[in-house]
Amino acid sequence: MAFAQVVLDIPTRLLEGAFCYAVPDGLAGEVQVGATVLVTFSHRAAVGYVMGLLDEAPQGLDEARLLPIERVLAAPAFDEARGRVATWMAREYACPLSEAVRPFLAPGQGFRVRRVEEGGAWELVSEAAAPVDERWVCLTDEACGFEPRKTAARQRALMAALAEGPVRMAELTALLSGAAGVVSALQKRGVVSVFERRRVRGETTTTLSSARAERPHQLTAGQRDALAAIEEACRAGRGDVVLVDGVTGSGKTEVYLSAIEAVRAQGKGALVLVPEISLTAQTVGRFRARFGDDVAILHSRLSVGERFDQWDLARTGQAHVVVGARSALFAPIPNLGLVVIDEEHEWTYKQESAPRYHARDVAARLAAETGAALVLGSATPSLESLARCEAGTWQGVTWTRVKMPERPGGALLPTVRVVDMAREFQSGNRSVFSRELAEALQGVAERREKAVLLLNRRGFATFLMCRDCGCVPECPHCSTSLTYHERTHALMCHTCGRTWPVRAFPDPSTRCPNCGSRYLAAFGMGTQRVEDELRMLLPPDVDVIRMDADSTRQKGAHQRLLEEFDASECAVLVGTQMIAKGLDFPEVTLVGVVNADTTLKMPDFRAAERTYDLLEQVAGRAGRGERAGQVFVQTYWASHPAIQAVACHDRDLFLAAEEADRREGLYPPYARLANVVVWGKDAQGVRTACDELAASVRAEAGERAGWEVLGPADCAKAKAKDNYRRHVLVKAPADAELGELLGSCARGLGRRPGISVAVDVDAYDLV
Ligand code: ADP
Ligand code: ZN
Ligand code: ZN
Repeated sequence: MAFAQVVLDIPTRLLEGAFCYAVPDGLAGEVQVGATVLVTFSHRAAVGYVMGLLDEAPQGLDEARLLPIERVLAAPAFDEARGRVATWMAREYACPLSEAVRPFLAPGQGFRVRRVEEGGAWELVSEAAAPVDERWVCLTDEACGFEPRKTAARQRALMAALAEGPVRMAELTALLSGAAGVVSALQKRGVVSVFERRRVRGETTTTLSSARAERPHQLTAGQRDALAAIEEACRAGRGDVVLVDGVTGSGKTEVYLSAIEAVRAQGKGALVLVPEISLTAQTVGRFRARFGDDVAILHSRLSVGERFDQWDLARTGQAHVVVGARSALFAPIPNLGLVVIDEEHEWTYKQESAPRYHARDVAARLAAETGAALVLGSATPSLESLARCEAGTWQGVTWTRVKMPERPGGALLPTVRVVDMAREFQSGNRSVFSRELAEALQGVAERREKAVLLLNRRGFATFLMCRDCGCVPECPHCSTSLTYHERTHALMCHTCGRTWPVRAFPDPSTRCPNCGSRYLAAFGMGTQRVEDELRMLLPPDVDVIRMDADSTRQKGAHQRLLEEFDASECAVLVGTQMIAKGLDFPEVTLVGVVNADTTLKMPDFRAAERTYDLLEQVAGRAGRGERAGQVFVQTYWASHPAIQAVACHDRDLFLAAEEADRREGLYPPYARLANVVVWGKDAQGVRTACDELAASVRAEAGERAGWEVLGPADCAKAKAKDNYRRHVLVKAPADAELGELLGSCARGLGRRPGISVAVDVDAYDLV
């Protein structure tokens, strides 16, 4: 008799871990780790996932009384190594095991048990994005000897269409009226045959013209060093980490491609994570060009059906290289040899809903469990990764940093000019462009080159800012910065939806609520405004392409705009953060940052790091070709180390200041920081629950060296959608196990109607 550990798909903190069930002989082969099964729990049917198999029942359990697994609902979605990663995630991130397992499951393949009548019958509901087969038609060997009659024009047309190879039935139907009849007539004569093939939804075959497929003739010294380190990490087979610290344009992508080739040559699979926004056709095109159909693509813009098909290509071993955004981390790649995280410093690798994991840390765990090597790449590595490389080992594996300080072919890093906008304003210039940047843009137009303009926004639209003190008005109900809507001349809160006419806020004279200045101007202006000013500044034959949330809402719009920019002879690309990454257009000679400060003003210990990363990335878009690049950074805070470091191409300038601040304030990477948020509609209930939580964390952690409990306090976003939000911040030594302690404190609160608790270990979003 065999037994299985099954985690039930009932997400509650109160139901911990896996339960043991008996495996009936009839199901012995089918019940495997990762399979979805139907069981009985507490007299009702329940869906569960097999986490482990046992030969005998665990100590203390009576074999005879264990309930059997009723049915296997779906084939394995994960293997034992990934099952261990899920178990680790549940502990590390203080979430129920079922929640940690969920990201590993096949996209859109959910099962639910639904009560049909009170206390009685139930039914199983499946939400399967089942694979779809489609019919294809091809010529048979008989076809060469077959000559359609002169009058059979449609037969001729059909055979001509098939001459180059098999064609989808659907395409033939679109091409030729009555195709189905012609096909069946020819099928009877044995001239064509019809077969079924799995339809792969969401296949993208178009690539940008500038996507480069060829291998470079020679790798740079930095690239060779990086590959040697990666090869060593692969050979060690214990999850060693290599940080490729290469300036923008130093050829990191080429390193990934070569490393994957090496891994593929050994018959192993590879996983590449890129930030969602840089998962453009350009990036995908480079991987497709090198590895063709061996690549599966996974990101959130695909429909569920498309995601399932790509996921299944990996599981069935039809594609051995998966390129995708954060959630691709959980793709079932057999025999994993290499995991790459490009732009590893990016915030998009932190998941902000349960399970609240960081892809870098889960990838390190996955690599350790599977023996794969982990490669992290960035021009601006996170302070976390730098600290681990500094230490040399972290959680039992080696962390190595390889520097790639040069661009291939000696392409130069662009020169960076910092423009003080307060001075510009005081000298009477009211435009969004400083005089220097305006002149540089006109120069680009004259020389028929290309420019990129970045608007630094934190996901908000325009907001109103005092040009004398930098103050930004906030919603009195949500403590969210209010956005300004030019068309209606109103201020709006995007958390609660309230609006104010500008004239009435904060008082009829519209003065700064902080310093009383009258210069309360729309700052962090919308891309539309920049576009309008640009069109007035430049001759009409310069293409102005705007890329923001509005212009990219439609599927494929992002790629279309990039193609337009690529194809244009002389153009300016204006956009938000989404244009900062991964674009590689050699004709770009000018980059302008319209407002560098916006992110510096956030109430967050990572604000400076974010700003530095963004500026360095966007500056890297200039001068990737033969012509030198120029960068203009407009700011109200010219002396800030983050801005100075970008100007001098000297990261150490920024790091020295930043590391000192973090060490002193006991912030990551020198400590761990968790944010426990409690929210609900009843302010008093939230207050009580949060007080109790803080008390229990203090009782558990208070005595331990290096632990510190801050709060409870209102969150910076103290109120959102009528929910009151309070939180407790917990700091602990860098190697402390935070999740287990916080998970048990959260469980201790028990179930309270109307009160929600979220434990965010290694939190990024602190507002
Ligand atoms: P990164 O990912 O570091 O920003 P890329 O891999 O995109 O850099 O490389 C920048 C440019 O340099 C690309 O156009 C790429 O094709 C080219 N390149 C990369 N490696 C080499 C090399 N060894 N020799 C010549 N060109 C190279
Ligand atoms: Zn002011
Ligand atoms: Zn509000």
